[in-house]
Amino acid sequence: MKKGESMLKDFVINGTIVISGLFIMGQIFRNHPVRPHSSLKLKLLAALLFGLIGAVLMEFSIRIVPGVIADLRHIPVAFAALYGGVPTALVSALIIAMARIILFPAGPEALVAFGGMLLIGLGCGLLTYSKARPLVKFTLMNLFSLLIITTSLFINIPDASLFFETALYHWCISIIAGFLAFYTYIYIDQSNEAFRKLKEYSTKDFLTGLNNSRQFTIFFNTYVQRAKERGEPFSLLVIDIDHFKEVNDTYGHPNGDKILQELGQILSDAARPVDIVSRNGGEEFSVLMIDCSYTEAKEHAEHIRAMIEQHGFTTLDGDRIHITISIGGASFPETNAEEMYHFADRLLYEAKRTGRNKVCWVDILQQDGL
Ligand code: GH3
Ligand code: MG
Ligand code: MG
Repeated sequence: MKKGESMLKDFVINGTIVISGLFIMGQIFRNHPVRPHSSLKLKLLAALLFGLIGAVLMEFSIRIVPGVIADLRHIPVAFAALYGGVPTALVSALIIAMARIILFPAGPEALVAFGGMLLIGLGCGLLTYSKARPLVKFTLMNLFSLLIITTSLFINIPDASLFFETALYHWCISIIAGFLAFYTYIYIDQSNEAFRKLKEYSTKDFLTGLNNSRQFTIFFNTYVQRAKERGEPFSLLVIDIDHFKEVNDTYGHPNGDKILQELGQILSDAARPVDIVSRNGGEEFSVLMIDCSYTEAKEHAEHIRAMIEQHGFTTLDGDRIHITISIGGASFPETNAEEMYHFADRLLYEAKRTGRNKVCWVDILQQDGL
């Protein structure tokens, strides 16, 4: 029989395993948080990991009497429910229930534990439909699980005083460890959310949602590096709206912003999924095209120019406005990779100087000896 002090120690070890597990989960899902509306694949991955945490907890469980063990394996199931709803809770509970049978001598006690764990998975999953605050929901899951566990212990432990002692420690530690783990979960969730926001703010343009100029520079430098190392071709278009100041002066800044957003959307829709579309500042955009030849890039630039010329942009009052764009373009290997931006920018200026609403390519520069 385990002494109370030793039982307490083992439960505390269980609590620290739960908290460490939550930290690891937080790292794994930092960029793709698991939520009830996440993809099934992501939810199943979370269920598998929560199931593993449950299995580790069982390895550190308290052996009460032969065939009977006690630990905090229900807590990962409650978190699985909080993260991914019913499927995550059920699958993690099933993994833990099976691990209980595989890892420990299977007897009637193991079957009681197996059934109890499935009930816990179902109950925690269904409790996710409650409208209560997350802390209340989690506490209800914890209490519901404790009721099931206490019933299992009651069936499995014949000695009344041992049953009471085990149940008492189980309730106390589950509730304390549950609160600690819950606040750890909130802390990790909030810091991951802040991390994702900061990452987005530092890489995306707030108005159009396209890459900002810092992110453009990172991609551009990567492409230059790849061009130098592996000779991979790439093309660059630098795009600027013609007479945009007049649009702002005539229709107002909010309408100017709306046009910038719509133009960003059109450029993204027209690009291939691998192309990098950015707003480099003000009313200047760019498209970086990996593995795109000189002829293809030139055709794409002309296609965009013609499409914008024909597109009717809608103002906030529902009026239709037409704008035009000028484009400067360059391609590697026709142009030195490091000088692509410099040349494309000069060609944009050339397009402006020679009448706007046109595409100027690097061959013009060379012809004119600019
Ligand atoms: P050009 O054909 O030579 O490019 O003429 P332009 O008027 O487009 O060029 P200019 O550089 O003189 O003016 C750019 C204008 O873009 C001025 C500025 O008000 C406007 N602009 C820059 N950023 C924003 C923005 O975020 N929102 C809005 N609405 N306008 C912007
Ligand atoms: Mg302009
Ligand atoms: Mg400009």
